[in-house]
Amino acid sequence: MGLGLVKNVVIVGGGTAGWMTAAALSTLISNGCKIRLVESDEISTIGVGEATIPVIRGYNQLIGVDENEFLRQTQGTFKLGIEFVNWGKQGDSYIHGFGVIGRDQLLAKFYQYWLKLYQDGQVPDIEHYSINTVAARKNKFLRAVSDSTGSPLSDISHAFHFDAALYAKYLRGLSEKRGVRRTEGRITETVLRADDGHVQAIVLENGERIEGDLFIDCSGFRGLLIEGALNTGYEDWSHWLPCDRAIAVPCESVSPLLPYTRSTAHDAGWQWRIPLQHRIGNGHVYSSKFMEPEQAESILMNNLDGKPLAQPRHLRFTTGKRKRAWNKNVVAIGLAGGFMEPLESTSIHLVQTGITRLLTMFPHKGYDQPDIDAFNQATDEEYAAIRDFLILHYKLNAREGKPFWDYCRNMEIPATLQRRMDLYRSNGRIIRGSDELFTETSWLQVMHGQGLRAKGYHPLVDQRSAEDIAAFLGNVKEVVLRCAEHMPTHEEYIASCCAA
Ligand code: FAD
Repeated sequence: MGLGLVKNVVIVGGGTAGWMTAAALSTLISNGCKIRLVESDEISTIGVGEATIPVIRGYNQLIGVDENEFLRQTQGTFKLGIEFVNWGKQGDSYIHGFGVIGRDQLLAKFYQYWLKLYQDGQVPDIEHYSINTVAARKNKFLRAVSDSTGSPLSDISHAFHFDAALYAKYLRGLSEKRGVRRTEGRITETVLRADDGHVQAIVLENGERIEGDLFIDCSGFRGLLIEGALNTGYEDWSHWLPCDRAIAVPCESVSPLLPYTRSTAHDAGWQWRIPLQHRIGNGHVYSSKFMEPEQAESILMNNLDGKPLAQPRHLRFTTGKRKRAWNKNVVAIGLAGGFMEPLESTSIHLVQTGITRLLTMFPHKGYDQPDIDAFNQATDEEYAAIRDFLILHYKLNAREGKPFWDYCRNMEIPATLQRRMDLYRSNGRIIRGSDELFTETSWLQVMHGQGLRAKGYHPLVDQRSAEDIAAFLGNVKEVVLRCAEHMPTHEEYIASCCAA
């Protein structure tokens, strides 16, 4: 990639976002461009981003990281989806499994056939047709097997759980080998150019001044440049996504090693459980309007599977996004750009898409407003679609009598989300934009899992007889089950990946 005028890139911050950006840029940008990363050892990273979605594999491929090496370096495990416990109502459990479900037919999608018979009470829940979910329930794992027979084994879609601090350390080593210069120090001042208000330099506590043409703000929630220096503004979404606190604590591992994240609803939020090889990451995300920190901490500590390994850490956040991710010569990536809470593990994904978008729109000949506007518009659309998907989990709950959940069930929601829910309720139709992250099957699993029921189904399904459809669905269910039974356990599979 040629860079023209942009010769000095300065990355501010060395958390997951900073080092992911450094590793990608140092791999893909050449032409004499210098990349510097500044981080402060005194200001700790957030360090709790441990669950991902399958697109992370694309990032690792992009920077040339072997998957087994990655698992070894980060104490990583595989993730087939997320189990939601007590979310619809107390006692419920459903899994949002990654990947496709069944085989779409010429006339209609697979789930439309399932809807018809499910509405008649003839077939079980949709999860019985998903290889990811059936395998997850059995603690089994296998990477997708490519074959021409159309076996469900070729549909397995995986992501990872990993230790974020180890991942950042690994990426740092890789970036430094590829020429990134790291500087340790606390940034105390930002110098703006008088003519256009662009950032000219940052100044460290020891007086060192670092100049740059492009600054990538990966400084976390504080948004040192994008907000601190440029006052870009923040769109607050806490009326839709009301959790604003989290408490994180690791605990000892227990057997079996689950190949999925668990999210358990509590009275004013939910608890995550992320199994790694060496420990389990846990956290309680809650709303401070509905619960005191002491109560939230005691709920978390009373619901750990193993002995705690550290003191619980309390974190604060405001769900929402920066009004512009790219402002003048500053691009915000990671928490500096926004945060929508970790319910569907989308933050690291947003780091990844921010990097990809920046590479696509790189200001190699200087800054053009149409490019900046296109970058910001794409970012806004991506955030809005993910936001709607997250709100869906809260809105569709039947946890009556709990003030937090009553608020969520009754809150106004974006019109875009209301339309999606209405369309599904009427005839099981699911609409989504072509660039959206979450697929139709993701929307289906969460809408259905949270208790929304479609009244109808696609009319073309009636071209086939009910007996024919029953045989078709029965066959898929049986093959999925047989495949899952043949897979190794997650623990066995990890051991084979991590063997020296
Ligand atoms: P940080 O980790 O905060 O890093 C900021 C960096 O900036 C640090 O290196 C710091 O030293 C540096 N810095 C700041 N100020 C200065 C200064 N003045 N001078 C010098 N350096 C400075 N994401 C997922 O994808 N999956 C998850 O499961 C998940 N769970 C989460 C749970 C919670 C409760 C939270 C809050 C977030 C979660 N995330 C998750 C998000 C994920 O943690 C972040 O997206 C990711 O860690 C990136 O953070 P960051 O690098 O932007 O910021």
